[in-house]
Amino acid sequence: MSTSRRWVQDFSEGSREQRDLLGGKGANVAEMTRILGADRVPAGFTITTAACVAYMEGGSTAPEGMDAEVAEALARLEAHAGKRLGDAADPLLVSVRSGARESMPGMMDTVLNLGLNDASVGGLAERTGNARFAWDSYRRFVQMYGNVVLGIDSDRFEEAIAAVKAARGVELDTDLDAAALEELTRTFQTFYAFPQDPHAQLDGAIRAVFDSWMGDRAVTYRRLHRIPDDWGTAVNVQQMVFGNKGDTSGSGVAFSRDEVTGEAEPSGDFLVNAQGEDVVSGVRNTQDIRDLRTVMPEAHAQLMEILRTLEAHYKDMQDTEFTVEEGRLYMLQTRSAKRPAQAAVRFAVDAVAEGLLTEAEALMTIDAASVETLLSPQFDPSVDYAVVATGIGASPGGAKGEVVFSAAAAVAARAEKRDTILVRPFTDAGDVAGFAAARGILTSTGGKASHAALVARGMGRPAVTGASALKIDVRARVLRLPDGSTVAEGGFIAINGTTGEITLDDVPVTAPGVSDELETVLGWADGIRRLGVRANADTPDDAARAVELGAQGIGLCRSEHMFLGERQPLMAAVILADGEQERTAAIERLRPLQEDDYERILVALDGRPLCVRLLDPPLNEFLPEPHELPEGSPERARVESLQEENPMLGTRGVRLGILQPELYEMQVRALFRAAARVPGADVEVMIPLVDYELELDFMEDLVARVADEEGVVRGRDYKFGSMIELPRACFLADRIARHADFFSFGTNDLTQTGLGFSREDIEARILERYIDVKILDRSPFETIDTPGVAQMVRMGAWLGRKTKVDLKLGVCGEHGGDPDSIAFFHDSGIDYVSCSPPRVPVARLAAAQAAI
Ligand code: ADP
Ligand code: MG
Ligand code: MG
Repeated sequence: MSTSRRWVQDFSEGSREQRDLLGGKGANVAEMTRILGADRVPAGFTITTAACVAYMEGGSTAPEGMDAEVAEALARLEAHAGKRLGDAADPLLVSVRSGARESMPGMMDTVLNLGLNDASVGGLAERTGNARFAWDSYRRFVQMYGNVVLGIDSDRFEEAIAAVKAARGVELDTDLDAAALEELTRTFQTFYAFPQDPHAQLDGAIRAVFDSWMGDRAVTYRRLHRIPDDWGTAVNVQQMVFGNKGDTSGSGVAFSRDEVTGEAEPSGDFLVNAQGEDVVSGVRNTQDIRDLRTVMPEAHAQLMEILRTLEAHYKDMQDTEFTVEEGRLYMLQTRSAKRPAQAAVRFAVDAVAEGLLTEAEALMTIDAASVETLLSPQFDPSVDYAVVATGIGASPGGAKGEVVFSAAAAVAARAEKRDTILVRPFTDAGDVAGFAAARGILTSTGGKASHAALVARGMGRPAVTGASALKIDVRARVLRLPDGSTVAEGGFIAINGTTGEITLDDVPVTAPGVSDELETVLGWADGIRRLGVRANADTPDDAARAVELGAQGIGLCRSEHMFLGERQPLMAAVILADGEQERTAAIERLRPLQEDDYERILVALDGRPLCVRLLDPPLNEFLPEPHELPEGSPERARVESLQEENPMLGTRGVRLGILQPELYEMQVRALFRAAARVPGADVEVMIPLVDYELELDFMEDLVARVADEEGVVRGRDYKFGSMIELPRACFLADRIARHADFFSFGTNDLTQTGLGFSREDIEARILERYIDVKILDRSPFETIDTPGVAQMVRMGAWLGRKTKVDLKLGVCGEHGGDPDSIAFFHDSGIDYVSCSPPRVPVARLAAAQAAI
């Protein structure tokens, strides 16, 4: 690019490395131009993201020099094409396409066929000998320009189209002849002041793309996907090729492999005699890409070849857009395919087998967080159900709930913790909030590449699309089934996004096991990662599940969970006991139960370590509410005396152990006795909420006394350690380490106390606003606050190891299953993370990615 140019670059000059400047679409169109050759990719130029940023900073005015550079680039494009924009006899037509650094499907708006006007539509018709095509292109342009650039409601256009179709007695857009299309174009032109000057059209479209970056839909999408507002979007101006020239033309999307299953067979959708928007919007039912082989064999063969080339070049599964104009294939876009976890895993395994990728490269193509969905609910395969209709399995998994017909209804139901299935004819950007709130998505039109399918897969929601036998009346809020019966809003429905089946039966959903392919991928990860992965588990069932998912032990067994439910009265009896004797008796009733729990967990662990955290929560969590007890009773007085202003910072953790040592003694004894009964048992005793080294000293003595009595030896039979979850403990970790064999950083409480955030209150009230005004981009309880809280972890680790070089360091808490936090822990020399069982595969994978 010449040095005097700042804002514009031709496709022929760019490459994929320039993604930040050219946006993903522009960079990849440039890359395709390089590797596939200039005659496969329509020519054009990109107005850079830097120009968009300057435009925003300038209060929506183009930066100095941009307009002139656009004019020069257009002149180059006209010379290349041998046509001029606005030429009445032979007009150059262009598309104006947005494209940010990260793909934002359906979020930004594209205008096709720009350059047409009342004069040149005749020229185009004459030149091509195809009046229908010319008028179809023109009516699309007037419609898109009105809708995208000027914000005219799309319903007005759709209603006008429906009216003309009804008047002519035809069903499909493609059945409208030139005269009908001309009539439509004229009607559309009455909706707004359509600019006849092609240069004014181009200018308006470029600005509209820039402005759409700050539009509501784009902003919502960026919030959900954590894309910064200040990246800006590029604008691509590209010579048009035409899929709407008749039966030897068409348009479609194609994936280099099946985008749902990951199978090594290209998949996709296309439409004959259509422009690209028709395929993605899901308003017409598409044809499977395999049918292209019969409809346009030559284009099909070329496309298959190109998909292989692109995949080998990018070393990743590709998602492309193409158009065939009178038999000739053009590539309009390529990008790494977004894919559900099952396809990601399948691709990784196949790509290594094919020699396309190394194991490490293959691991990097998987979104670690997404593999949790592989373990999320599916229809129980052993249960039969009555299928009332079938659509396309567009996003895998089983989901059930109440039918809702709007995103707003899904959001409202979510707030009341009710499960819903969002049912729509098709979806658009305005429905995205409903995807997050609903359990699953069902549409009557569209395919695997429709908006509904893409967004559902992106969010890990099961979806069935294109269930064309359903009649969905959004206004009347009823769903009509093929047999004529109806389901009203609030009625029950279940969808199987794996098979596309729909049922009214309440099919049980179950968590599946680890597939062979996932096992393979996780095996590679285990070979690469240095961070250990344990699970947080409190019951024998959870322990067994954790082991099945590859946990190397339990990093956090919250012993109090065993005291809730039906055992709560026993626990309350301990706390409310009147005098020493009564208390001892009450504790002795609990001990055998606790012993039995530990024994069964140890059996499930089969020699893997079990780290038991002694009782942590405030005692009043085990007590009845005072008003539930008789007025004036001694019990009620006792319960009242135990109420605290701020229980989370009150009598809990080690403080409890110091006030009521009998409880801790009982727990330790139960653990030691259980361990004695299970060969190879490996147990760790962990003290929560330690602030002062003397607290730990006190507990060290207590545990040593019980150990003596039980004849077990520290180091050989058990380890003793501390949670590090208060700022003071991080700062004084060198002193605390004198008493500990290990630390486990409790990053949930450390986040609460380090930030002074009460988790429930912050997430309910403050967080959304903080994200809106960009103080935060996500919850610090989800990803650890790296500059703050995480530095306390780092300091605690460093100070602890200063005292004891071999001090074992773990992290438990939600962050232990979060890929971004895991990367930080890996870098900080932590030995293992511990997370909930379904996150164990996520952590194994993320730990490997951190090590690659
Ligand atoms: P999106 O980001 O919404 O996919 P695109 O810019 O990719 O928007 O445009 C949408 C569709 O418009 C493309 O898939 C393609 O089919 C069609 N399109 C865009 N540019 C051209 C062009 N120059 N010629 C023909 N079709 C085009
Ligand atoms: Mg596109
Ligand atoms: Mg804690």
